[in-house]
Amino acid sequence: MSERHYINGRWVPPRRGGSLENSNPATEEVVGEYAAGTAEDIASAVDAAREALPGWKGINPSERASCLRALAAQIRTRQNDLAHTEVLDNGKPLPEALWDVDDAAGCFEFYADLAERSVMHETIALPDERFECVVRYEPVGVVGQIIPWNYPLLMAAWKVAPALAAGCTCVLKPSEFTPLTALELGRMADEVGLPPGVLNVVTGTGPEAGEPLVTHPNVRKVAFTGSVPTGRRVMQLAAQDIKNVSLELGGKSPIVVFADADLRQAIEWIMFGIFWNQGQVCSATSRLLVEESIAPRLLEQLASEAEKITVGNGLTPGVLLGPLVSASQHGKVLRHIAEGQAAGARLISGGKRPPSLPQGYFIEPTIFSEVPRESALWQQEIFGPVLCVRTFRKEAEAVAEANDTPFGLAAAVMSADVSRCQRVAAALEAGIVWINCSQPTFTQAPWGGVKGSGIGRELGRWGFESYREPKQITRYTSAAPWGWYLK
Ligand code: NAD
Repeated sequence: MSERHYINGRWVPPRRGGSLENSNPATEEVVGEYAAGTAEDIASAVDAAREALPGWKGINPSERASCLRALAAQIRTRQNDLAHTEVLDNGKPLPEALWDVDDAAGCFEFYADLAERSVMHETIALPDERFECVVRYEPVGVVGQIIPWNYPLLMAAWKVAPALAAGCTCVLKPSEFTPLTALELGRMADEVGLPPGVLNVVTGTGPEAGEPLVTHPNVRKVAFTGSVPTGRRVMQLAAQDIKNVSLELGGKSPIVVFADADLRQAIEWIMFGIFWNQGQVCSATSRLLVEESIAPRLLEQLASEAEKITVGNGLTPGVLLGPLVSASQHGKVLRHIAEGQAAGARLISGGKRPPSLPQGYFIEPTIFSEVPRESALWQQEIFGPVLCVRTFRKEAEAVAEANDTPFGLAAAVMSADVSRCQRVAAALEAGIVWINCSQPTFTQAPWGGVKGSGIGRELGRWGFESYREPKQITRYTSAAPWGWYLK
């Protein structure tokens, strides 16, 4: 089935007949083939979504909630095989994939509840009593959703669940590197009886399938997660029709560790912030700013803990770091490491392919200290298991350096002094700030960045509202003329 798109409740071959291959990043073996979507397939999917829209937005929100709950239950029933598929496609360790699948189900459950709880319309008080204003919350319409490869099923859930809950219909385009679980989401939608056309999944590359989705005139909103350059392109294309756009882009997030922080806690969260999912996390706290007085002790312990991490095939029990997603990502991260060394950064751990793993896109957990501020290593998103470290002496210096980046997705601060943590959290330019932790993500809380990290928020009620348009309906209630022309 994976060589077909899921359009209008049916599995259809690509109109132009092409296919693409995806491979297992741990073995470099081809896992399977899937459909190479083009503008024709996107047009069919958008037509189906448009046709399904009146029915889907017209039903009671509790009926939509039932569908979402059924989908969540199906995801939970299939947790093991979905997680297994995710490991074959993406490479991540199986326990992480199981966690992701559980989160994806939780996301559908959360938005099912929100669909039922949310107000559909409300009356607004106006200063002139002769007028009555009702605001109706209406679904945006057909939405085009484009997702990356780092959390294939979870990113699909973050996009599809709030959109469906709000009454929109969707065309989802997964990453060409990891299309499998998005197609499974289509299959599960079918199994639970989601009406045809409400969710459509079209696979393919960005230029061939992504761009036609962004530019299709009947797509009213584009929800994109991916890199900054692609996000910029998507925004430019969407500007043609003044489309509603949300962008969840990259980051180079700081983690600031003060001398009074609990050292073991700090090391645990620093590692979680850069080695989870092989560092291929948009909010990875990849820049460590550590107070100078504790830097030697912290770095020595950190390097020793990093060296204990078991690297290997994500299906092997005990593995904590799998392969990177693709040959190109592997090459890019190794280039960053080589350039970092050439720029004068000090390699204190890792830095190469593990000698015991000649096959697969593996890289050791890597830590650089004394990273020059102007180097690409410090400035650019690497999207791999590479931590960059600098030291600071004063709080103000740490905040200034943390904010000295074009990105603004996330940041973390660690200190025993809670009021200092609150002060620093307020000063950090980021959409998400963690205090005494890094990365815990909850479906209930808003997610998204400032500056170059994006526009808009996903998750929580903010994610839901991004799929609704408030419509103002104002009624003149007095029997007397208003009195401007007719006295
Ligand atoms: P990418 O930008 O290369 O691709 C993302 C998606 O966009 C893919 O589905 C791709 O096919 C599609 N695409 C590519 N070119 C396109 C075009 N011209 N028009 C339309 N679609 C196009 O990103 P990636 O390498 O898949 O993912 C990694 C990036 O995603 C990182 O920068 C990471 O920080 C970011 N990310 C951000 C978040 C967040 O919530 N902020 C979450 C996950 C990943």
